Amino acid sequence: MITIRTKAEMHAHTAAARAAGRRIGLVPTMGAFHAGHHALMRAAREACDEVVVSLFVNPAQFDEAGDLAAYPRSEERDAADAAGLGVDVLFAPAPEEVYPAGFATRVRVEGLSDVLEGAERGPGHFAGVCTVVAKLFNVVAPDVAYFGQKDAQQVAVLKRMVADLDMPVVLEVVPTVREPDGLAMSSRNVRLDAAERERAVALSRALAAAEAAIAAGERDGATLRAAALGAMAPYRVEPEYLALVDPDSFSPVDLVNGRVLVAVAARVGDTRLIDNALFQTHGGDLTEAPTITKEP
Ligand code: AMP
Repeated sequence: MITIRTKAEMHAHTAAARAAGRRIGLVPTMGAFHAGHHALMRAAREACDEVVVSLFVNPAQFDEAGDLAAYPRSEERDAADAAGLGVDVLFAPAPEEVYPAGFATRVRVEGLSDVLEGAERGPGHFAGVCTVVAKLFNVVAPDVAYFGQKDAQQVAVLKRMVADLDMPVVLEVVPTVREPDGLAMSSRNVRLDAAERERAVALSRALAAAEAAIAAGERDGATLRAAALGAMAPYRVEPEYLALVDPDSFSPVDLVNGRVLVAVAARVGDTRLIDNALFQTHGGDLTEAPTITKEP
């Protein structure tokens, strides 16, 4: 694996790979790799000839200076992980390389960017994500880019951006990787102390409760939401939001009929966590659901 730090070198590298007929896969990350990142890299390794992993803690998408400062950084260990998984290139540019003096452009997806995560984190969050991902697509020019279902709204916003701006890249979505007790893997989990770590399972318990209710035939959004909230209460975790939405438009779902995304965000101590689960119903049946641990 080689490490590339400049846009010019990165662009030249993938232009040569493309000219040689190689299919290029990109995995955008902010580092501090865990099994979720590894799953994205494995998916890319399986389907592509040239696998590029970008590692860039993007200041433009952080709404809190403290969160950016506290964001875990471990490039050396990340590079070893990526090399071990057969990644070809680690693209790790400095902030000045990505945002040189005079930088003044923002890519903004309207509507979708303003609800749930967008409402909590502010209008700059998804604009920061879209701007950096658009730049990565231009610099790396991948055939396929890999994103995690863990960030479901990010996936919806980026799919909209790619469609609206005619970007020639396919987005692949990889299922959420979880700890054995159900907690979704996140780089921020390392900030949880032992007591917070136990309470953090509240988010996945909420999703499991929603699943159980849907499987039992419940279709009313308010009732399902109440069931999910009830499962969080014993952990003393109050959600910032807990919502049933359409997975593409993120408009609220009052009555489940087909695909529904249950999305939740909560602070546990000082750490903000998010999770979600995508369900598919057909009439009275729950036909598709993710695997979430239901019991401690
Ligand atoms: P991040 O480094 O947190 O920006 O994440 C980089 C990519 O990994 C994003 O596409 C995330 O959605 C994805 N990701 C993060 N956590 C998980 C997880 N637990 N399972 C699967 N993908 C994940």
